[in-house]
Amino acid sequence: MACDNCETKFSDYYSENIYTWCTNCGNYGIHAGVKRALVDLNIEPRDVLLCFDIGCHGNGSDKIGGYRFHGLHGRVIPFAAGASIANLKVKVIAFGGDGGTLGEGINHLISAVRNNYNITFILHNNLNYGLTLGQASPTTKEDMRMNSSPDGTNIEPLHVMRFLLSLNPSFAARSFSGDVKHVQKTIKQAIQHKGFSFVEIFQSCPTYNKQTPHEWYQERVFDVDELVGYDNTDIKKASEIAEDLENKIAIGVLYKNPSKKEFMEIQENRVGIETELVDEVRNYDVSEFLEAFK
Ligand code: SF4
Repeated sequence: MACDNCETKFSDYYSENIYTWCTNCGNYGIHAGVKRALVDLNIEPRDVLLCFDIGCHGNGSDKIGGYRFHGLHGRVIPFAAGASIANLKVKVIAFGGDGGTLGEGINHLISAVRNNYNITFILHNNLNYGLTLGQASPTTKEDMRMNSSPDGTNIEPLHVMRFLLSLNPSFAARSFSGDVKHVQKTIKQAIQHKGFSFVEIFQSCPTYNKQTPHEWYQERVFDVDELVGYDNTDIKKASEIAEDLENKIAIGVLYKNPSKKEFMEIQENRVGIETELVDEVRNYDVSEFLEAFK
């Protein structure tokens, strides 16, 4: 929620902890873009919950101020979704890597898109498991030589946006870690969307992914905002423009469907109830149920 009577500053999200990412890691650009988006939207740290999965990106969880959660590998989405249901006043943003999200936790991503939980999810896609020293992930290109597959993977990589758009999402966007302003602009739109907003960010990993560094993306990305007449409410057009991942790579808000109802809007048993679930359970006596486990 944006704060009406305050002016959020960049320093409000300051943390004294020192970054541990490698030099030139794309996580720096994404982290800066997230902070800038929150400041631009005048969202105070007390009004947002930032949820981090396990992975290199997750090591940013204590490098930013405010409420944060750092969870199990691949399981950040159910936690974030639960938090957003428990307290509708708090904006929830979750972060995951390509390994945890599309490997261990892919079922949670499917569920989040289908249920249209009111959270923003940011996928740090660096095409590998960086934290565990460079293994192939579901998005690693076939010919990329990784520590777990020195001759290449010989498996066709998962095309993230093709998969995502097949689930009929309410918001699907892309950005690139080498352009902080674009990350900032895209995340701002994602946060403002009601429902599950998915942002795939192509992230450079100079340590383990030598094939697609900053420069590789810089030469290939273009913003759909620059296309005359691009209609981002047309899912067929979004699917077509998202397809190319080698030569001309589309970034920006590729698709949105603002009329799709988010999860809590279709919970008929909550109609007319003003209190938050988090307040209601506080006074709920569960001792009787716990007896069953004694
Ligand atoms: Fe960044 Fe890659 Fe280093 Fe992880 S291993 S911190 S993703 S450059």
